[in-house]
Amino acid sequence: MLIDLHTHSNASDGTDTPSQLIDKAINRGLAVIALTDHDTTRGWDEASTRLLNHPSQSTLQLVHGAEISCQDSDGISIHMLGFFFDPQHKPLLDVLEQTRENRLSRMERIIARLNEAGIEITIEDVHAQRSSDATLGRPHLADALVARGHVSSRDEAFAALLHNKSKFYINHYSPSPTSAIQLIKEAGGVAVIAHPLASQRGRTIRIEVLDDLIAAGLDGIEVHHRDHSEDERAQLLGLALEKELIVTGSSDYHGTGKQNQLAEFTTHPQQWEALVSRARIKNVEERLIRR
Ligand code: AMP
Ligand code: ZN
Ligand code: FE
Ligand code: FE
Repeated sequence: MLIDLHTHSNASDGTDTPSQLIDKAINRGLAVIALTDHDTTRGWDEASTRLLNHPSQSTLQLVHGAEISCQDSDGISIHMLGFFFDPQHKPLLDVLEQTRENRLSRMERIIARLNEAGIEITIEDVHAQRSSDATLGRPHLADALVARGHVSSRDEAFAALLHNKSKFYINHYSPSPTSAIQLIKEAGGVAVIAHPLASQRGRTIRIEVLDDLIAAGLDGIEVHHRDHSEDERAQLLGLALEKELIVTGSSDYHGTGKQNQLAEFTTHPQQWEALVSRARIKNVEERLIRR
């Protein structure tokens, strides 16, 4: 039973449309997929429509989610997965909108720095790489740099120019992880911290901060993820057991934008059941239920 609780579409920085993602999940034989685009719920409707009208006899279950960009009091970037939350919950919607809005001016500021260093690229080049209203991110800038011939791939763009320690890096507005957890839960959802020890991206969360998040109601930890070493997984698993948190595993699939393959890491069915049981509204979309 393949359960993949973290994937991206071109509603943010993935390269597949939500429909293509659903088709791939069905072809790959997934039992459950969560669509978790960065700071948006924009792909939910298309993914649901594709699943509910799918020509196959698929039993795929679709979970609506989002990966919320956060920053803790040490200035460390944290990604919070929210599942099953009410997409109409105004306080949460406002925070997501503020983040997406701020990503636009942040992109202009990064571009200004690149231009100062003699790298020719414009905001129009970047917009040409994203589908309309998609959450704008560095991967779109990476694609624009590839299109301009400055680098040969997203990976090279990040390694050479766009990584978190680069002189071109600028962050954007994001809520604190505690407020993201509170908002997700107020909206009836479940909160799981994504890849908390993914150290090659930059500094990672201090254990004391993680304790604060658990106190704020964090439901689970994404343990099984390609950006964690064996040791990091063991450490997180120990913590999850000690604190009675849900353990997830997922691909963080981005289409052709990253090497991550659908269901390369998965969540145990019992952990999935525990996750569903914590949601106030258990709106799992399934083709056979609707027919
Ligand atoms: P941003 O949200 O604009 O700060 O960009 C961060 C996003 O870039 C992450 O969530 C990943 O999806 C993506 N990313 C980070 N590193 C890489 C990489 N080496 N190659 C491709 N995408 C990356
Ligand atoms: Zn991403
Ligand atoms: Fe992430
Ligand atoms: Fe992600």
